[in-house]
Amino acid sequence: MKNSNATWLNGKPFECDLRAHLGRELAIANDADCLALSEATDGAAAGAQSVFCVIIGTGVGGGLVIRGQPLCGPNAIAGEWGHNQLPWPEASELPGRDCYCGLNGCIETWLSGPGMAADHLAATGEAVEPPAIVRAAAGGNADAEATLKRYEHRLARGLAMVINTIDPDVIVLGGGLSRLEHLYETVPRIWQRYVFSDTVRTALRAPVHGDSSGVRGAAWLGRNRRLVAAQSG
Ligand SMILES: [Zn+2]
Repeated sequence: MKNSNATWLNGKPFECDLRAHLGRELAIANDADCLALSEATDGAAAGAQSVFCVIIGTGVGGGLVIRGQPLCGPNAIAGEWGHNQLPWPEASELPGRDCYCGLNGCIETWLSGPGMAADHLAATGEAVEPPAIVRAAAGGNADAEATLKRYEHRLARGLAMVINTIDPDVIVLGGGLSRLEHLYETVPRIWQRYVFSDTVRTALRAPVHGDSSGVRGAAWLGRNRRLVAAQSG
C-alpha cells in the first residue's frame, strides 16, 4: 500500500495479509477506481469506452476505466490527478498552499472540501465549512457565491487538463461536492476555453449510484475477476 489516507496501511502488504486472514481470493482497488468501474459498468457512463471518475470530498482522487477495465499502471497511480498542480494558475493562486504530499498548489488543496473552506477563509476571513458556503450562496451571499465561482473555474481547469491528456468519453464526479448540481452546467462551459479542441464532446455527469457507487464497483471488481478466472479454466 502507498498514498493511503489510512497511513498505518502504507508500506504494508494489505491485499496479501487480508487474503491470508480470510483464506480466500479477493479483489481490491481504491475508492475512485471502484466508483469509476461502477459508473462505467451500469451507471452514468454505461457503454462508454473511456471513463474518468473524480472523487471530490475530504480529499481528491481519480480513477480511469478503459473498455470496462480499471487502468492500474506500473506505479499503480493511474488517475491520481489530485496531486498535479492546478493548471493555468492565476497570479493569486501561486505558489498555492502546502500539500501533505510535499509539493504545493496541488489540485487537492483547491478542490477538496477542506480546500474550498481554506479558500473561503483566505478570501473572507470566515471559517465556514462547504455545506454552509453552499447554503449562503443559495441565499444570495456574494462572498459565498464568489467562492463557488472560483471553485468551479478551478474544477474546469483541472478537468480540461484530463481531457487534453486522455480525452475520456465521460467524466463522472463523486464525493460530497459532486452534489453541487450547477457544476454539471457551468464546468463544461468553462472548460471549453482550455480544451485543445474546437468542440468538446466530453460529458460531465453525476453518479447514478450515488454514495453506493464505490461499494458497487468493488463488487463488480470481484465479479469480473471471477469471470476471467472461470474463462481461463
Ligand atoms: Zn499533493
